[in-house]
Amino acid sequence: MDLQKWNLFPLLALLASFIFLFYVQDSSKPSQSGCSLLPHGHYWIASKSIVTPQGIVSGAVILFYLFSGCLNGQWRHVHLDDPGRAEWEGFPSGTKAAAAGGITTLIDMPLNNFPSTVSAETLKLKIEAAEKSIYVDVGFWGGLVPENAFNATALEALLDAGALSLKSFMCPSGISDFPMTDSTHIKIQSAIENHLETEDDGGDPRSYSTYLKKRPPSMEEAAIRELLTVTKDTSIGGRAEGAHLHVVHLSDATEEIPDGDIRFKCAPPIRGAGNKEKLWNALMEGHIDMLSSDHSPPVPELKLLNDGNFLKAWGGMSLYRSFVLPVTWSYGQKFGITLEQLVSWWSEKPAKLARQHSKGSITIGNHADIVVWEPEVEFHLNEGHPMFVKNPSISAYIGKSLSGNVLATFVRGNLVYKEGSHALAACGSKILAA
Ligand SMILES: [Zn+2]
Repeated sequence: MDLQKWNLFPLLALLASFIFLFYVQDSSKPSQSGCSLLPHGHYWIASKSIVTPQGIVSGAVILFYLFSGCLNGQWRHVHLDDPGRAEWEGFPSGTKAAAAGGITTLIDMPLNNFPSTVSAETLKLKIEAAEKSIYVDVGFWGGLVPENAFNATALEALLDAGALSLKSFMCPSGISDFPMTDSTHIKIQSAIENHLETEDDGGDPRSYSTYLKKRPPSMEEAAIRELLTVTKDTSIGGRAEGAHLHVVHLSDATEEIPDGDIRFKCAPPIRGAGNKEKLWNALMEGHIDMLSSDHSPPVPELKLLNDGNFLKAWGGMSLYRSFVLPVTWSYGQKFGITLEQLVSWWSEKPAKLARQHSKGSITIGNHADIVVWEPEVEFHLNEGHPMFVKNPSISAYIGKSLSGNVLATFVRGNLVYKEGSHALAACGSKILAA
């Protein structure tokens, strides 16, 4: 590894990351100023429960790092809206919230910032905005839009500039400079979300059922059918090898969404409990092999909190902070999920998807990104809970009782978060396609 070396106690072969207790020793080498809450360049972490692919073991990990950096752990679908709409969510607030939730790496979506990230030039603006503003590692998706879809030179330039992959919308995105595509535009690997619209057909706009009628499952089914016409090229050896479908919304069901509570408006919409059960079963049976969670908040005014109009409010949810791990863990108890599965869904598989081979597991040569948490600790998420996001008032999951508390987050060996406090300096690394 280039930035730090790992030494593991001899009897342990550690390949994944969750640790419940930790202790720090030694101070042989100071860390780079402000990047870490630890004033040590050499330390060890011990725990009675370390999750590895071979099972849960007790032991210790020794870390030596030469200078700052930050890497490996969990991944998110997230909209950090610098430049252009930092009042929705920005790099400093978004990455601080991520660190507080045990998330060590984010992949930023190409829209909601302005201009949208659809060219080498606009990706450069993103990269510049992230400079000295990120507390965890951040990579960038590029956007596939009609304007660039048939321009191989422009797409190659976007990928050469560092975009990890491309994302497109199959319905209006709600962002004027990120128009929708169809299957004819999707010629290369893309993360796909399915969004289609119909005309308003009446009904109480505060009723969630009205919103569901406006966006029936048949729309997503139609979009998926259209996608299937291009997936024949995505198998091994195909010209679009590696394309994938992105499925979200496992933790809630329409039955839990009160009328007027537009914090839960997203697109495609959260469906009924039956769908939720099927998604969980697909996850448990391995048909879905990784998890992500969209964080797409606007400013509170666009959420129309007081109005509660599902047809007019912005269709993105705020799903940040300590929610990813505890929500998955809490809701997954019913299905008997294990810590090993949690690591696989949130770390190993997403790292492979983004082709970040130095991330996703604790192993010699990998980046020292570690989450320390207490899965058994229960807490009630109320308004006073520190969230660190730009607009906490629109956060979903407020009012829920969850299990699993993040104590500390290490990124590339730096202790970037511990029990409510962040490192002074934003020393996250930008991840660009090689
Ligand atoms: Zn999104």
